[in-house]
This record gives sequence, structure tokens and C-alpha cells, in this order.
Amino acid sequence: MIGLIFGPPGSGKGTQAAHVEREFKLSHLSTGDILRAEVARGSDIGKEAERIMRAGDLVPDDLIIRIVQSILRDPNVSSDVLLDGFPRTLEQAKALDEMLAQEGHKVDFVIAFKVPEDVLIERLLHRAEVEGRPDDTREAIRERMHEYRNLTEMVLDHYRKGVKVHEIDGVGEIEEIFERIRKALLPAERGR
Ligand code: ADP
Repeated sequence: MIGLIFGPPGSGKGTQAAHVEREFKLSHLSTGDILRAEVARGSDIGKEAERIMRAGDLVPDDLIIRIVQSILRDPNVSSDVLLDGFPRTLEQAKALDEMLAQEGHKVDFVIAFKVPEDVLIERLLHRAEVEGRPDDTREAIRERMHEYRNLTEMVLDHYRKGVKVHEIDGVGEIEEIFERIRKALLPAERGR
């Protein structure tokens, strides 16, 4: 089972993905977390990604596609995955579809969060104070929102043509939002 989780920055997708991982026994793969770990390790990939991420821009497609490909091909990684933060561009979506098709798989479901922009900005600025993520500055937040609207929304349109896209209202308590996701995913889960 392959699921994708989409949402603008600050929509809570990381938090909800962790819940979905537990409840539906999927392994949560967050490209943002993977890149942040590379930056922390000071690897070559980390060095390449650090400045780009700090500015709120997207790292090059070929770099992130290679990373995801090597994880999905790893026999130690479960074939039940929830991808968070990937694909973010049409190019990445096509690469993913091809990777999956080679194994006879496809994307089974898509979750997409909807949250008004003023709520997102408020949450991210609050997170900046609590966690100090280097891309939670006003400038970088603006850039990340812009990338989401310009590139990632097109990826959603791509999947709407063939897969059920569950639009989830991302405003409310964490448990309440997770309940919306759980209800939406139950039919897909039964078909597993
Ligand atoms: P958010 O959704 O809050 O912006 P993420 O943790 O998903 O945060 O991603 C943080 C940053 O990591 C992005 O702004 C981008 O620089 C980089 N990144 C993550 N995933 C991708 C991807 N699929 N393609 C390109 N860049 C990515």
C-alpha cells in the first residue's frame, strides 16, 4: 500500500503522518526529515541541500528522486509506505509513478490538507519560536507557500485524474483531524 500526504507548510502533515503510520501500519517517509538529517550529519547531500532549504526553495528533482529511489528499492524497507513531502513537482510525480510501476505498484491513496493561509503563517511563526527551524523565517515561509501553490498543487491535479484524493480540513484539534483521516482511509484499508 502506497499513500501520499500533501499539505502546505504548517498544515500539520508531519504530525498527522506519524498518527497514520501507527494506526495503518505504514512506514512514514518524510523527505524533509531525511534532508534535515543529512544537513545535521554534514554529508555531501546535506551540504548541497542546506542553503536551498534555508531559503525555502526546493532541492533539485534529480537529487531527491535518487534518495527516494534508493529507499524504496531497499529490501529492508516495508512496501507499505506513507510518503510525506514527496512528490513535490510533476517531474517527481512521474518518476515516482514509474518507480512503482516497475514493481507492479501504484499510489493507492492521497491525503491533502486544507488550511487557510493566515492560520498557516501563525502556526509557523509560533513553531519558529519553539523549535527554531531555520526555514521558519517570514521570508522562507513565503517562499515555501509559493512553491506549494505553484508546483505541488499541480501534482495533486495529476493524482486527481487516477486516484482518490481525500481533502482533509486541517483546522482543529490534532485528534479531531486524525479522526477525519481515519474515516476517509477506512475503505482503502479494507481493500488491503
Ligand atoms: P514543509 O512542508 O513544512 O515546507 P518539509 O519538512 O516537508 O517542510 O520540507 C522542508 C524542505 O525540504 C523544503 O522546503 C525543501 O527545501 C526540502 N524538500 C523536502 N522534500 C522535497 C522534495 N520532494 N523536493 C524538493 N525539496 C524538498
